[in-house]
Amino acid sequence: MFCNQCEQTAHGQGCTTVGVCGKDPDVQSLQETLLYGVKGMAAYAHHARRLGKSDPAVSAFIEEALFATMTNVNFDLETLFEMVLECGRQNLRVMQLLDEGHAEKFGAASPTTVYEGTKAGPGILVTGHDLLDLQNILEQSQGAGVNVYTHGEMLPAHSYPKLRAYPHLAGHYGGPWQNQQFEFPLFSGPIVATTNCVLIPWDSYKDRLYTTGVTAVPGGRRIPGNDFSAVIAQAKQSPSLPEKKVRESTIGFHHNVILGIADKVLEAVKSGAVKHFYLIGGCDGAEVGRNYYTKAAHATPNESIILTLGCGKYRIRNHDYGTVAGLPRLLDMGQCNDAYGAIQVAVGLAQALGCGVNDLPLTILLSWFEQKAVAVLLTLLALGVKGIRVGPVPPAFVTPRIFQALQEKFDLKLTEAEPPRELFQLAT
Ligand code: SF4
Repeated sequence: MFCNQCEQTAHGQGCTTVGVCGKDPDVQSLQETLLYGVKGMAAYAHHARRLGKSDPAVSAFIEEALFATMTNVNFDLETLFEMVLECGRQNLRVMQLLDEGHAEKFGAASPTTVYEGTKAGPGILVTGHDLLDLQNILEQSQGAGVNVYTHGEMLPAHSYPKLRAYPHLAGHYGGPWQNQQFEFPLFSGPIVATTNCVLIPWDSYKDRLYTTGVTAVPGGRRIPGNDFSAVIAQAKQSPSLPEKKVRESTIGFHHNVILGIADKVLEAVKSGAVKHFYLIGGCDGAEVGRNYYTKAAHATPNESIILTLGCGKYRIRNHDYGTVAGLPRLLDMGQCNDAYGAIQVAVGLAQALGCGVNDLPLTILLSWFEQKAVAVLLTLLALGVKGIRVGPVPPAFVTPRIFQALQEKFDLKLTEAEPPRELFQLAT
């Protein structure tokens, strides 16, 4: 039996000519974009559901979108393109639910100073995005004589008052996900990976790596429920960590914090003290080209504010940007899902200035790697945000024709070899 589309191979077994099962490669590209966007959105939706927040309309869309990615149900570019944008709209709702869930469960995020490094004594390291797992670990390890540290995308946990109220939340250790394999061997205690982006552990630490929920790795130990007693027991047996302070940092510029001082920000914009905003962040990765974001952040003029989020922040945060109009120039807004907050800030600014988001003095440099970044990019496009630069490489699943369509409709650009100078030349 041969495929009725390409007549080359059995249906569903791959195609030798123009794409999977004879499908137009552009159709396949949109289906894959939709699939990756839905995966990212599902991760956020799962985090939100664990916090008691869900929306039946989101669940219905996930079913519909997955149905549309079957190989033999939709061959129409126009409807698939609309579903891809609908994925972005639904992801905005999901990020809103997660934002509300975090605030309701852990209190309103606020700026705070974070100790980075380790303190003398045994410790547990928690990585990933699931703040509820972190809270359970903190709750169960109270009085056990062990410290708890955040890693990677857990850094924003310190901005939530009900989490930082635990005195043994001792600080933050390490950087982005791709550093795990050299940072984790140096951490003497157990490590709990709550979500993506976890790497398959090396032998040197796999007996100390625990995973929760759907997260699992060969050699690691799964925790099926919320009982972290095995982690705490191993921490108590582990060698003491050294007293080693690396730095202190200020985080926690949640959208409610920034919008809470909107008058001050607007005054700074109107007076010309702040002439431009840059959103630099997203998903980090190991590729050499990612120093584009570092160079761009360092080149931003003093009369500008940089908003950052996701683990892309680790590309730009080891630098003193100083202050402008009494505010730090680098404002860390949180995890990748806090792109919701960046959108709220942009919309709030645009409303206050009587213009559209695309008329704001705003440059968006998005680093992508992961399905969550795809979902966030689709949200920005669904909102009609134009001129985003995404990199450091084009997503392999987007065909030239689909990318051209995105360029024409949204002025979507790829990052260049070097950040162009005009990005940093401000209107007088
Ligand atoms: S921001 Fe992206 S790359 Fe970084 S840990 Fe989160 S999902 Fe992974």
